[in-house]
Parts: sequence; structure tokens; C-alpha cells
Amino acid sequence: MDVTDPDARRVWVAAGGRCTFCKEFLAEDETTGQSVFIGQLAHIVGATRQKGSPRGGSSKTPKQRAMPENLMLLCPGEHKVIDTFEHWSTYDEKQLLAFKQQHERDVRELTGLLRKPKSTVIRVSGSIRDHAVDFSKQAVIRALLREQRFPDFSLHNDSQNCEVDLRPHDGEDDSDDTYWKSTKLTLEKRLRPLNNHLKTKEIDHISVFALARIPILIQLGVLLDDITNVTVHNRRRGSGEGWGWYAEGRSKNLTFGVTEVPGEGDPVVTFSISGPVDLDALPVELQGKPRYDIRAEGVKLHPKILQSSEDLEALIDRWREVLATIEADHRNQPISLVLAVCAAAAVEIGRAHMTAAHAPLRVFDRIKNTYALALETS
Ligand SMILES: [Zn+2]
Repeated sequence: MDVTDPDARRVWVAAGGRCTFCKEFLAEDETTGQSVFIGQLAHIVGATRQKGSPRGGSSKTPKQRAMPENLMLLCPGEHKVIDTFEHWSTYDEKQLLAFKQQHERDVRELTGLLRKPKSTVIRVSGSIRDHAVDFSKQAVIRALLREQRFPDFSLHNDSQNCEVDLRPHDGEDDSDDTYWKSTKLTLEKRLRPLNNHLKTKEIDHISVFALARIPILIQLGVLLDDITNVTVHNRRRGSGEGWGWYAEGRSKNLTFGVTEVPGEGDPVVTFSISGPVDLDALPVELQGKPRYDIRAEGVKLHPKILQSSEDLEALIDRWREVLATIEADHRNQPISLVLAVCAAAAVEIGRAHMTAAHAPLRVFDRIKNTYALALETS
């Protein structure tokens, strides 16, 4: 009785294309690397009851003997071993069946650990200084594919979740209180369903594409702070609408220093990265307070100073150290932030702040020649 094609395929798939004993990959020749099926389907109970059929004395019918349950995938050498007469008693039916089942369980479990490339896309587009920012779905998809991720927009369809368009919000020009309140509300409303989807494991990974005013990006990061599988994409400057970094690995000479300025009251943190924060222009309410100035060093400050995700990571490490110091010295006091950073850095700065553990952030925005409080994170 011949093994049918579908049954043969079932055994090959269940075995993951590997020998049950030595685990050799059986769809190519190991020495030449050429594509050839060298695997063999071995009968556990021999195909017939005749003398000379290994383990053939069983009561199984010919049809049962040709079923996947009675077949195991082996390399030619080991097929020969189990079918050689003097080894029949060593490799008896029970023993071989146990090997087959264990191998197939292992293959299933290990291949189940493969990384799923699906990623849920979050787009946040706002306005930056009178300049409405738009970016296409195509550019977002291209950026994801470059990272070997597969875009998932399914949460966008029904309720516009994960799609945050802040451009229609009025009041951006003078950045009044209403603008910050309404944009913050929109952000929270659109992203709230994420937590439920994460709990039910419908989301494996999140890809963030955001370009808006810095306080909004910080708030976005804070909303994502308890989610680990997030990639924040960098908007490349000066090259159309591309997303991605400029280089790989840490930039030579670029470091991040922290200067502590003593003072009274709740703490202030400044970030001079993509440009300098004008410390002389800080508003009166921030003067005389204890201050931590984080500054890029070794390279002239400019908008593309963070060249890679590793550079950003190094900056965030510094920020985490400052947060730890603040937690020790200024427990439960709100932290005022004045920042000159790129969009991706702003989101990551928000993410590193833990809402549950740290006091809220008060984010300032550059207005004319000074800085004004824009929003308090929650
Ligand atoms: Zn083998």
C-alpha cells in the first residue's frame, strides 16, 4: 500500500523537514548545499506482515501502516539503522513512536516562537509652526517593510483609532490653553482602545509615526509608556517624506552630559539636543528652581544630531538616570521640561517617564522669545 502524497506531506511538515534523530535539515544536501530531498519516510510498523518487514508482526492493517501516524521522517543513514535486522528489537514500535511524537511536538513548539512581523501603525499628524504636516500611508508602509514588519491598519478602519489627525484643531498658531487641552483629549480618545487590544494579545507590536508639536509628542510617549514592543520611527529631515535614521550604530564623539544647577522648589529638566535651550529666556516661574541640563556634547548641536536609534537610546539612558536622581531628591514633585529635540526623541522621552512611578511632567513650549507651559501629562 503506497503512502499518498498528502499523507507524505503531512509527515514532512510535522517533522519540520528535519530528521527525527539527528535533526539534520533534509531538503538539501549538507555538503554541496544543493536543493534535494534527502529525507525518507520510515515505517514504524513495516509496510507488510511478511518476514523481513521490520516490526511487521503487528496487527495493523496495510492501510493503517501507510498512514502518517505510522510514518516518521529520517535521514537515509538512520533509516538504515532502524531497519537493519539486528536492531529491530532495540528500535521497537513503542520506542520509535515516542521519538516521532516528541520530535513533532518540539517542531511545533519551536516554530511557534517565530517572530510575528505584524505591527499596528499609529499615525499622529499635527501642525508645526503654521505648517500642516501630512504623511502618506505609502511612506509609512515602506518604512515598515524596511524593518521586516508587516503593516496592520485593521484598528484604523472602524473608528479611526490609532489615527490621530490634530490638524483641524484650532488655536495652534497662538498655542493657547484650548489647543493643548483639545489635542490631548483627542490623543487619549484615539489611543485608549490600544490597551484593551494589548491585553487580549491582538497586538504584538506598535509602530509609531508622529510629527506634531513637542508637548503633544511627549504626551503620546506617556500614553505608550507601559507598552514594551514599540518602534518609534524617525522622520528624516530634508529628504522628502522619508522615515528612518541616517546611520547605524553610535555616532563618533557624540555624548550626553548632565549639569546640575542647585535651586529651590520642584525640578526643571532641559534638553539641548537638536539645538540649544535658551537658559536665559526661561520664564520667571522656572527660575531659581533646581535644574538638570541635559546637553549633547562632542558634536555641534543641529537637527540631525541623533543619527541612529542607538544615539537616541544613549540619550534616553541619560534621561532615565536623571529621572532616578529626581525621584530620590524630589519625590512626587512635578517635573518641568523644556526641550529642543527631534520628534522621535520627544516620544521616547515621554515613554521613559513612568506614569505610575514618576510625578507628572509639565511640558513647556517655545513661544516667541520665551517658554510657556503647554500641557501637564497624565
Ligand atoms: Zn538523521
